[in-house]
Amino acid sequence: AKQSGKNVVQFYSRELKDSSLRRMELEAALRDAIENGEFELFLQPILDLSTGKVSQAEALIRWRRPDVGLVFPDEFIPIAEKTGLIIAIGKWVIQEASRLLSQLHENGQYIKLSVNLSPAQVSDRSLLHFIKEHIETNEVDPTYLELELTEGVLVNDFERINHFLSEVRKLGVSVAIDDFGTGYSSLSYLPKLPIDFLKIDRSFIGELIDSESNKAIVLAILAMAESLKLGVIAEGVEVESQKAFLSKHRCQSAQGYLFSRPVPFDEFCKLL
Ligand code: C2E
Ligand code: CA
Ligand code: CA
Ligand code: CA
Repeated sequence: AKQSGKNVVQFYSRELKDSSLRRMELEAALRDAIENGEFELFLQPILDLSTGKVSQAEALIRWRRPDVGLVFPDEFIPIAEKTGLIIAIGKWVIQEASRLLSQLHENGQYIKLSVNLSPAQVSDRSLLHFIKEHIETNEVDPTYLELELTEGVLVNDFERINHFLSEVRKLGVSVAIDDFGTGYSSLSYLPKLPIDFLKIDRSFIGELIDSESNKAIVLAILAMAESLKLGVIAEGVEVESQKAFLSKHRCQSAQGYLFSRPVPFDEFCKLL
C-alpha cells in the first residue's frame, strides 16, 4: 500500500512538473517568437450575403514553431495575456495587418481587415499612437481597418473605453464587438458607445436550425442591430441551412467554414 501511494504521488508530481515545464518552455519560446519571425496572420473571408462576395476578412494569428508545427492561438494567447507578452504580440499583429492591407490595396483589392485586441491592449496608452503610425507608414486607408473587442472589455471601465473607442473612430478605424451575446453584460452600453459592428457568436449559429431559442436570439440581435444602425456579422457558419436562414432575415455578412477556413495571405488572395 505504501509503495502504491508513493507511485500515485510521483505520478501526480510528474504530471504537474510536465505541465508547468511545458508552460515555461512555451513562455520562453514565445518570448523569442516575434524576433525570430515565427508568427503569421491567416485571413478568413467574410462574405456579404446579398452579393455573395468577400467584403472583408478577419486576421487570425498562427505560430509556426520550428520542429513543432502550427500552433493555434487558443494555446498561446492565454499565456501571452498572463505574461504581458500580448502587448508586443498585439503590436506585431497591427503592424503585420497594416502591411497586408497595403499589399491588398496595391493589388487593387479594397476590402476591410479586422484584427483581434486583447483586453490588456486597450489599457496600453501607446496603442493608439502605434496604430496611427502604422497606418501612415504603410499608406493604408484607415477605413479598411477594424478592431474586434469582446463584450467583457466594454463593461470594465466605461469612461476609459468610451474615450479609447472615440479616439479609434477619430483615426477612421472601425470597431466590432466580438462573440456578441456571450458576455452576460447589460445591453445598455450599446447605444452609448461608438461601435460599428456586432459579431454574433458562433455558439448561436452552430445549432441555429434545431434550436428555437437560438433562432429567437439571432433574430433579436438582427432587429436590435438594425434599429441601432449597427452592421452584423454571423460567425461560425458551417452549413447551407444556416446561411439560408441568415440571408432570409437580412443578416448583412457571414463568416465560417462553409465559405473558407482561415488561410495564409497568398491563398486568401486567390479567393478574391
Ligand atoms: P475569435 O476571435 O472568436 O475567432 C474566430 C475563431 O473561430 C477562429 O479560431 C476561427 O478559425 C474559428 N472559426 C471560424 N469559422 C468557424 C466555423 O465555421 N466553425 C468553427 N468551429 N470555428 C470557426 P482561431 O483562429 O483558432 O482563433 C481562436 C481565438 O484566438 C480567436 O477567437 C481570438 O479570440 C483569439 N485570437 C486569434 N488571433 C488573435 C490575435 O491576433 N490577437 C488576439 N488577442 N487574439 C487572437
Ligand atoms: Ca474575432
Ligand atoms: Ca468571435
Ligand atoms: Ca472568441
